[in-house]
Amino acid sequence: MNFHIHTTWSDGIFTPEIIVREAIKRKMDKIAITDHYLTKKTASLPPKYLKMYVEDLRGLKKKYSKNIDIYIGLEIDFSNRTDLDNLPDFSDLDFLLFEYVQDELWDGYPLWMLLNVRKKINKPVILAHNDISRNFKNADYKALLHVLESDNIGVELNTNYNYTRLGLPFYRLAEDFFSKLRDYKIPISIGSDLHDDIENINNVGDAFTFIQEMHLDKNFKLFLREVEKNER
Ligand SMILES: [Zn+2]
Repeated sequence: MNFHIHTTWSDGIFTPEIIVREAIKRKMDKIAITDHYLTKKTASLPPKYLKMYVEDLRGLKKKYSKNIDIYIGLEIDFSNRTDLDNLPDFSDLDFLLFEYVQDELWDGYPLWMLLNVRKKINKPVILAHNDISRNFKNADYKALLHVLESDNIGVELNTNYNYTRLGLPFYRLAEDFFSKLRDYKIPISIGSDLHDDIENINNVGDAFTFIQEMHLDKNFKLFLREVEKNER
């Protein structure tokens, strides 16, 4: 499984169909396409193409339904590079990733601002590749977890090399946070933020190992249940 993949709809170099075929070749069960939406940071999906994006991915979902489950997501750059006041209706999507939440290095807006945006989105919302131990270093983890649970915001385990420090993925630097998280109803997602290295499409093994080690199975299943709710 891999729930964080970019395609030619934004800054990925492969079309969704090439991605889907590669995933099937590797006998993957589930993938999500999560292209960038309307950010100045990189090539991203403009609002006028959102409908076409959803239709394209729905077509693939149908075409390959016997081989793999495909989910439709988007990644939102949570900063002033995105026009957050004019977000569209996301009802056709299965879930949304929010990157750079409370990330000062990337001028990300604070978590409390996401709580306001979150209220308008009736879909699973996940913090993508968040460097929790740095971005929330002064936070009381229990209070933070309580907020994430009550506002239904999940957390992604991202295996991409870009999201490592000191040779460790961000999630492994936040073991303290995740060891407490299992007591909360907070969805956990996994992904690799694939853009061009298609050979790494199933390179999420360490995230699965981490789920086992930290006893986060229930949180991962919660994520799967929530995204599946939207399937049609
Ligand atoms: Zn991404």
